[in-house]
Amino acid sequence: MIVILLGFPGSGKGTQCKRIADKFGFSHLATGDIFRAEIAAKTAVGEKAADYLKKGKLVPDAIVIEMVAGKIEKGGKYLLDGFPRTLEQAQGLADMLKGVGAAVDLVVYLTLPKEEAIRRMASRRTCSGCGEVYNVASRPTKVEGICDKCGAAVVQREDDTEATAAKRLMVFEDLTHPLVAYYKSETAFEEVDAASSPDKVEAALSAVIEKTKAAR
Ligand code: AMP
Repeated sequence: MIVILLGFPGSGKGTQCKRIADKFGFSHLATGDIFRAEIAAKTAVGEKAADYLKKGKLVPDAIVIEMVAGKIEKGGKYLLDGFPRTLEQAQGLADMLKGVGAAVDLVVYLTLPKEEAIRRMASRRTCSGCGEVYNVASRPTKVEGICDKCGAAVVQREDDTEATAAKRLMVFEDLTHPLVAYYKSETAFEEVDAASSPDKVEAALSAVIEKTKAAR
């Protein structure tokens, strides 16, 4: 089963994927997390991607598609977070899934007002060690600046600062939002209101995944 989570940066895709991946036995494939890990490890892909992430721009499609293609296995159950982000990537995904006898089963669009997405990104903090996500307002660390889980420094992502966050929302509207119309006509498509509490979003998301599972 292949499920895509679409939504503004800051709409809670990563948080929700972490909550539901284990529950449904999905592998969580988050291209932003993969790029950050590649950059930290100073790999060739990381070197190519670093400047795009810093500026809030999209990494070129060919690089992203090749990277994801290397991670998709036959028979795998994937929760795709942050991929695809362009129509070309959606086509690349369709091709790579066809190659393993699969297709996208469900697309869930997490909807959120733009101002709320900016507010969430500005207050988000991320562990530089394990990637755990915090929020200075709603989910602070127990000790300021220190990850509760691994003890590494918790920092603001360079691309979560207000100016870059606003840029990323524009990029979403220009390049990623067209995927809404694309997938609405191609596959099962559901909208979930991401402005409600994480528990409510999780419940709504679980319900649409259950519905899709039952219909397969
Ligand atoms: P995210 O953690 O999903 O917000 O992604 C952070 C950054 O990683 C984005 O602003 C892009 O620079 C890059 N990135 C992640 N996923 C993709 C993708 N599918 N296509 C292009 N760039 C991506």
